[in-house]
Amino acid sequence: MKRKTFLQATATALGGSLLPSLSFAEENRKRPIRFAHLTDIHVKPGIVPESGMAKALQHAQQMKPGLDFIINGGDSIMDALEADKTKTQTQWDLFKNILQKENSLPVYHTIGNHDIWGWFIKQNKPENDRLYGKQWAVEMLELKNRFYSFTKNNWHFIVLDSVQLNPAGGYIGKLDVEQLDWLLQELKNIPADKFICIVSHIPVLSICSGLFFDKTEANGDLLIKRNLMHTDFITLKKIFTKYPNIKACISGHIHLQDEVEYLGIKYYCNGAVSGNWWGGAFQEFEPAYAIVELYPDGTSKRTMIKYQ
Ligand SMILES: [Zn+2]
Repeated sequence: MKRKTFLQATATALGGSLLPSLSFAEENRKRPIRFAHLTDIHVKPGIVPESGMAKALQHAQQMKPGLDFIINGGDSIMDALEADKTKTQTQWDLFKNILQKENSLPVYHTIGNHDIWGWFIKQNKPENDRLYGKQWAVEMLELKNRFYSFTKNNWHFIVLDSVQLNPAGGYIGKLDVEQLDWLLQELKNIPADKFICIVSHIPVLSICSGLFFDKTEANGDLLIKRNLMHTDFITLKKIFTKYPNIKACISGHIHLQDEVEYLGIKYYCNGAVSGNWWGGAFQEFEPAYAIVELYPDGTSKRTMIKYQ
């Protein structure tokens, strides 16, 4: 009798699946959740963006050991902020078709600034169109809401919508009142034995947000603009301090990569699948995606993967 068969037979003889379930539980305790974080894909018509998106997805599918799922960090399409309806639809069709063809893993999507339709259209702004703003992205990405959460093993994931329209012009990185209320409630409801990973398009905290423009201001300041990092970081930090089970925050948006540890939380800004918007490397960073491993003890590891 082979050892495995013997063990199975013994377990059955013991009147249950004691041995197999024990080893399964132990295995699960050691094994991290492994997922790919693909952010800032910015797909648009053209051989380079289309084959680039396909290549990144194919690469992730072939990862060994295999991945549990994919998180799409937002800016799925090149731009809907200023695009007309036809151009926006073309980009979403491309995104959906390539994803369907090249991916067999579950995907959790995030909304990025460029996924929002019409905010920056100057003439005949389609404000009365049902799809104006975030609604089109919500439907294309089949989201139950623009912000949501899900659980995997002993990790809880909170996916935020970090892009808001700024009354003074442009957009701003922050949570709106409705979303902040939801987040507070959500954090209260998560059992303390679950670790938390927060996903946002715009980084909650990042040093590369201040390096995006690759320059020092004339007065000597290194500036973090309001659309490059969460402007409500101080508020969020105070909330996060009350929940020591928040262990990791992942983001995109900047197309640069960093890893910041602050007050017990790892903040990972994970570059861009599109690199320099499909024009090669952006500053020092080649097109890439991240493999994130979240361990059962609350620790994490991020590895950037050049897929081309
Ligand atoms: Zn982007």
